[in-house]
Amino acid sequence: MARKIVAGNWKMNLHLKEGQALVQATNEYLNQNPVEHIDVIIAPPAYQLCQSVFNSGNKKLSIAAQNMAAQDNGAFTGELSASMLIDSGAELVILGHSERRTLFGEDDALINAKVKKALSKGLYPILCIGESLEQRQSNVHQAHIKAQLDAGLEGLAADELYRVIIAYEPIWAIGTGETASPEQAQNMHSFIRKYLSEKYSATVADEVSILYGGSVKPANARDLFGQPDIDGALIGGASIVKDSFLDIIQVGEEILR
Ligand code: PEP
Repeated sequence: MARKIVAGNWKMNLHLKEGQALVQATNEYLNQNPVEHIDVIIAPPAYQLCQSVFNSGNKKLSIAAQNMAAQDNGAFTGELSASMLIDSGAELVILGHSERRTLFGEDDALINAKVKKALSKGLYPILCIGESLEQRQSNVHQAHIKAQLDAGLEGLAADELYRVIIAYEPIWAIGTGETASPEQAQNMHSFIRKYLSEKYSATVADEVSILYGGSVKPANARDLFGQPDIDGALIGGASIVKDSFLDIIQVGEEILR
């Protein structure tokens, strides 16, 4: 059965003290309300990774990086390698976020190289995929998601898939306040699961966590988490507000199975 996950992507938000306070509050919450059914992940800005790991003493709170270089080391100014992220204590890395794709020109080939590198070094990649509004309106959204999966997972063996987490994040729903309806999200998640089943195996499809991302809030988390193929969420805006994030964790623990 797939891991159920509530993950927060802080993006370029929260300074050190604010980040520290949010990790500590999440940690305290998890100590007082131990979760059994979900894993909780936060992805702070890179320079806070060590600090976050240090403050996250709870085994249920894992730390993810927001990006990673495809190379091992060398003249790549401003980049961080997989082994550097592991040094910092990160266990996972978000790859192919739509902001990396659209604002920083990351293409499928680069993202695939990063996924492979992360896996080879022992990090769990959270591979983000998602269609634009135009693609959805022109009814090519499933074809686009298939192409992103083909390219992002290219060359991976079935036994490597168990360590990949997929985040379906329709671009039109990220940071816009507009969420995919539970039916729209479920339809795409079921499409992704079918893809995994046909390309790899039914077991792989059953084991890979497929998260939804796109304006998840406490108010809509319940309906989204109630869908059979939604294994949790990757949350941006609501993950940097303590009460919202903790509320979503609570709903996740209650509903996700
Ligand atoms: C994200 O950045 O991954 C995201 C889903 O953001 P938001 O929740 O703010 O839409």
